Amino acid sequence: MDCLFCKIIAGAIPSSKIHEDALCYAFADIHPQAPTHVLIVPRKHIASLAEATPEDLTLLGHLQATAAALARQHNLARGYRTVINTGDDGGQTVHHLHVHLLGGRALHWPPG
Ligand code: 5GP
Ligand code: ZN
Repeated sequence: MDCLFCKIIAGAIPSSKIHEDALCYAFADIHPQAPTHVLIVPRKHIASLAEATPEDLTLLGHLQATAAALARQHNLARGYRTVINTGDDGGQTVHHLHVHLLGGRALHWPPG
């Protein structure tokens, strides 16, 4: 499949693994926007949140719960942000659903 994140999950493209389980794979973003910037990616190829279906509800919850668990591991007790960019206006550049976990500095609001 011609998908960057499917290739990373398969190990065909190297990545800095942070976590993996039956449902997802998490790794360091190659262009970090904060001291902690982790991508949490479902093993299932879903192009974006807009393509998720009711059968993906458990998976979507698992991605967010995994972000919270990784935030605890990375000592982000002061706070952090989870982000899903969707579509062109949402700033999505890789068309395989993923959750960004950002922390380690004060984050601005509203985002750009
Ligand atoms: P998006 O813009 O789709 O929400 O997020 C895609 C993210 O993937 C970006 O933050 C970008 O830095 C990251 N990224 C793109 N290519 C690679 C790669 O080859 N390896 C890793 N680790 N991250 C990547
Ligand atoms: Zn994919």
